[in-house]
Amino acid sequence: VFNFCAGPAALPTQVLAEAQEQLLDWNGRGLSVMEMSHRSPEFVSIAAEAEQDFRDLLDIGDEYAVLFVHGGASAQFASLPLNLSAMGERVDYVDTGLWSQKAIKEAARYADVNVVVTAEQNQFTEVPEQKIWRCSDKAAYLHYTPNETINGVAFEWVPESDVPLVADMSSVILSGPIDVTRFGVIYAGAQKNIGPAGLAIVIVKKELLGKARQDIPTCMSYKVVADNHSMYNTPPTLAWYLSGLVFKWVKAQGGVAAMELVNRRKAAKLYNAIDSSDFYSNTVAVNSRSLMNVPFTLSDDRLNSLFVSQAEESGLLNLAGHRTAGGMRASIYNAVPEAAVDALVEFMSVFERDNG
Ligand code: PLP
Repeated sequence: VFNFCAGPAALPTQVLAEAQEQLLDWNGRGLSVMEMSHRSPEFVSIAAEAEQDFRDLLDIGDEYAVLFVHGGASAQFASLPLNLSAMGERVDYVDTGLWSQKAIKEAARYADVNVVVTAEQNQFTEVPEQKIWRCSDKAAYLHYTPNETINGVAFEWVPESDVPLVADMSSVILSGPIDVTRFGVIYAGAQKNIGPAGLAIVIVKKELLGKARQDIPTCMSYKVVADNHSMYNTPPTLAWYLSGLVFKWVKAQGGVAAMELVNRRKAAKLYNAIDSSDFYSNTVAVNSRSLMNVPFTLSDDRLNSLFVSQAEESGLLNLAGHRTAGGMRASIYNAVPEAAVDALVEFMSVFERDNG
């Protein structure tokens, strides 16, 4: 079967196979990774290797700390303003869809939020040009969502910013190279391109550590977590270990540049299939189309459940759109092979022939 779930998403089959072998008896020690102390030399080496592989993949320099934390990306919606909002008078946010809005709503509990632009006027189908953004004079940071997982809207470019730029890369991280030096903070929930749910990774410029509000929960302080190598409290050890296997797999594929080539090919095949048919449609502007999440609708909504059930019978899982968006959505993260997209395109063509 091929799994098009938006998250928790497919893991590489090679990773699952290795995990199956190693998980319950790590390196023949008679101990599973789940049972190891996070402070044992065994786990410390697993953790350090995973962090180094992640740093290698994204070419992350020593001026950044990499944190392995609990709470998913949603906890970062709060952690971020708690850690950084005291650096300015306001916090600036770009609104390109539901995930931006969740980040904005949470930040507003702790800080004065200025929404610099919203893509609402075009029904969240296009990324707004930067020249119309209304940034604050004294913002602590500028936050945006490079890839909106639900509406499939993505930035092909990195915004310019005089203040630290913060990106929620939950659904796009490791899908291609990024210039980390453009960012103050990058965070991502793991359960799409990194590994299993239960972990988020934060890449934070070290010069931004130690600026948090006094009342920040201790385990959310980027400085405390960084000073303790993400072991201030017990980290999500199993998710960390499995993410390390995913990093090794990405490296074996040729790294993120090689991933991007495949991801571009996969997305092009799927968008071509949609655009060349009157039966399927995707309304996102071509310059803002996500390579990771491809939402599409059928010409007749009443066919949605038939599409989903016949797709499942053909081994194509989790194609129903997000509950707030309806229609369909194919998430084609790194671990979804090109053969899965080929099978989906073939299925779509047959479904159109039979029902169009
Ligand atoms: N941000 C984006 C872009 C997402 O796609 C998601 C989840 O799908 C989240 C944040 C929330 O992540 P979590 O469920 O890990 O809190």
